[in-house]
Amino acid sequence: MATTTLPETEIEITPKNPAVKYVYFFGGGKADGNGKMKDELGGKGAGLAEMTNAGLPVPPGFTIQTEACREYMRHNQVSSEVDRQMEEALQHLEQLQGQKLGKGDNPLLVSVRSGAKFSMPGMMDTILNLGLNDQSVEALARRSGNPRFAYDSYRRLIQMFGNVVLEIEKAEFEKVFDAKKKQKKTKLDTDLDAKALKEVIAEYKKVVKKHAKRDFPQDSHEQLVMARDAVFRSWNNDRANHYRRINNISDELGTAANVQAMVFGNLGETSGTGVGFTRNPATGTKEFYGEFLMNAQGEDVVSGVRTPVPILELQKIMPDVYNQLRDITTRLEKHYRDMQDFEFTIQEGKLYMLQTRNGKRTGLAAVRAAIQMVEEGLITKEEAIFRVEPNQLYDFLVPRLDEKKAKVEVLATGLPASPGAAVGQIVFTADEAVTKAGHGAKKNPVILVRGETTPEDIHGMEVAAGILTSRGGMTSHAAVVTRGMGKCCVAGAGDVQVDEHAREMRVKGQVFREGDWISLDGTTGRVIRGKLNTLDASPDDPELTKFLSWAEPFRKIGVRANADIPRDAIQARAFGAEGIGLCRTEHMFFAEDRIPHMRAMIMADNEKDRRAALKKLLPMQRSDFAGLFRAMEGLPVTIRLLDPPLHEFLPKREELMVEIAVLQATKPKSPKLKELKTILRRVEELHEFNPMLGHRGCRLGITYPEITEMQARAIFEAAVAVEKDGVKTHAEVMIPLTATLKEMANQAAIVRRVADEVFAEKKKKVHYLVGTMIELPRAALVADEIAKEAEFFSFGTNDLTQTTFGFSRDDVNKILPTYLSEGILKQDPFAVLDREGVGELVRIGIKLGRKTRPKLEVGICGEHGGDPSSVEFCHQVGMDYVACSPFRVLTARLAAAQAGASDKLKVEGGRTK
Ligand code: PEP
Ligand code: MG
Repeated sequence: MATTTLPETEIEITPKNPAVKYVYFFGGGKADGNGKMKDELGGKGAGLAEMTNAGLPVPPGFTIQTEACREYMRHNQVSSEVDRQMEEALQHLEQLQGQKLGKGDNPLLVSVRSGAKFSMPGMMDTILNLGLNDQSVEALARRSGNPRFAYDSYRRLIQMFGNVVLEIEKAEFEKVFDAKKKQKKTKLDTDLDAKALKEVIAEYKKVVKKHAKRDFPQDSHEQLVMARDAVFRSWNNDRANHYRRINNISDELGTAANVQAMVFGNLGETSGTGVGFTRNPATGTKEFYGEFLMNAQGEDVVSGVRTPVPILELQKIMPDVYNQLRDITTRLEKHYRDMQDFEFTIQEGKLYMLQTRNGKRTGLAAVRAAIQMVEEGLITKEEAIFRVEPNQLYDFLVPRLDEKKAKVEVLATGLPASPGAAVGQIVFTADEAVTKAGHGAKKNPVILVRGETTPEDIHGMEVAAGILTSRGGMTSHAAVVTRGMGKCCVAGAGDVQVDEHAREMRVKGQVFREGDWISLDGTTGRVIRGKLNTLDASPDDPELTKFLSWAEPFRKIGVRANADIPRDAIQARAFGAEGIGLCRTEHMFFAEDRIPHMRAMIMADNEKDRRAALKKLLPMQRSDFAGLFRAMEGLPVTIRLLDPPLHEFLPKREELMVEIAVLQATKPKSPKLKELKTILRRVEELHEFNPMLGHRGCRLGITYPEITEMQARAIFEAAVAVEKDGVKTHAEVMIPLTATLKEMANQAAIVRRVADEVFAEKKKKVHYLVGTMIELPRAALVADEIAKEAEFFSFGTNDLTQTTFGFSRDDVNKILPTYLSEGILKQDPFAVLDREGVGELVRIGIKLGRKTRPKLEVGICGEHGGDPSSVEFCHQVGMDYVACSPFRVLTARLAAAQAGASDKLKVEGGRTK
């Protein structure tokens, strides 16, 4: 603990550095810091300083800056200089208030809150009422004339301190509290009187002693030091770590700790507390939005013990305070030039501002608010472009809740694990989900509610409209699986208690049973009572169109989609794709009517038989390609020749062995047995330990040239046929996994020869290019050679990442979580392009390629093509286009536009984090 005196030998690792200003005071109309100092003070601390300087009513206090947290992370303690400066600030605060922390007739009480540079709502810890102990609680009771309030504040402190600082499970305290309510036969927390609360306090102290093996600290200074350190530790809790990962926030930043004089919203009917936004954070509409509770403390508003009241009601209850609040928040919005998210407390009729920050908002709200702020003259169009995170545009592509006419009662907020909306009846097990979800006309939407999901729940998850879990983070099973399924999920909604045996869900003091309706918003993480309507996706939303019309002129690079079938291609065009960057032709072979021909081709042990099987596939491929050409109407369609190893098209070895063993035992004479044995033999011949590096890519086309011939023929026959119908085509034939010029030359020669044959036969030529994927380090390093034959490059950064790191794409998840938590890697390199290593190969590849062929067309088609940070990189290295899955096209368009705009406007992306 930080208060312990350091032994001499440790002085080295915790140097006293009096030059560092660790503690920043605010109060009495002026602050040491200001709103720009988010790096040091965190968003909350900077906001408090700025509001204080602006003369707003802010309870005084001090911010211990992020450097102290970083120090704590390095050495598990802060230096004694931090303690010294904190003590000095505390004395200043005590003087200003005319009170002493936890002492005297009018004890000073403080809150200790986290606050990092980028807001991480609810991820870190807070402690209120600090300074209460067995003596000061009595003083507070006398002073307030309200013993119930005093004891309630004290029991809250023990509970919060016990949980956050001493790491005792919340449930241990809840058990005591619930038992007391039962004993006193009361329903509401507020029904427990002072005497009952005193008894609760005694029990709470026993809980502390039992689980923490120590007494609840009576010394207020000790409480403060311990609370500060716990807030610093909370920077590294699991939720905060997850949050940083998904929001791309560095682990190194650390949080500040804000110590602030308490004001009480629970001092009676002229006191209250609330939270709000200057605009609606779900829709972006300009309206004063929020909720409050009279006679309550902050946590009551969010914990759901009581139902908060819409903020407009405050106008009736306390018109002066309401007007002052509106006035202040309007000023704050103008000052920060962005929508504000604020917290306030009213203590005996006097308003205090506790926090203001740029408000988090959904994608829809971000776009609408950005447009409105431009129209109001608050920001410029150029600034507006950066007020929307590219990933937020995904919200326009998934269904959402229609909140316009509905009464929205938020029951709980969890993690926005998989975006979209889902409305349905609650079920508690996967089996029930299957039974209740029904089929066809009898289909019935269900929401699967679980503590956590496991792989055994998959069948239920598949049929459910949405998933809600009370535990687990953004990478929990539920979150990962639903994102893969494109299904709405709210995960880790801690306020929801799920009792799968009793088939009950408890939240906000209400009980929900199987069959009750709830609505989920996977974009904001909200769980809403009842049955809301949903609205379909709207990529042609007029506000989105307007917003993009401001951003797009800055975009320099093209955006194509990865699509294998016409339906996806059409969808991608609707989202604004300017071509197809990757058609993975192998996906066309897995269809039921094709796989037998594919297998026949693979089973063939001579060229003649192989050609016969390929001939059957030819018309199918031809019609696939024709569909794509038609859908894209003259835009580039990049078609990659067969890539995966052939064994992927055959049944699994183990399954075959089992089937053979069963047949041998039951029907040893069956002709099927012979056939299966032949297949097994071929499977074993083709079996590879590391198929990702094996007989795949252009190696297939080189060893079996007839495959390349058939695919090339299908492409050119389709293109000619489509053009004869008056539709333009632009085929780009792409050779996968090349490493040498000779490989490229070998395959390009086949493609060009077949093209000439088809053109001669059909008496019509079409325009086309032959190029390659660059997905092996060697290819990047000899790109000047390869470019002699390749007319375009497309960086396959999935394989390039795998081969550069030597990680297997399929197995990396076994090690990735450790690598991320240990900080060995900052991000998953398969999601966010590794600029230093893989990125360097990309740079080299482009430079060398263009040395040989200055106009070489260069793009990317790995997963990174839809990731905003990677898109920015692609812009910087001068690619012509990025390609990504259809649902990321909007994101890529905005990310590319922002990259272009930052260049042009020389601004750093001032995004709202
Ligand atoms: C790649 O490797 O980046 C790529 C796009 O190809 P695939 O994912 O099909 O291997
Ligand atoms: Mg690849």
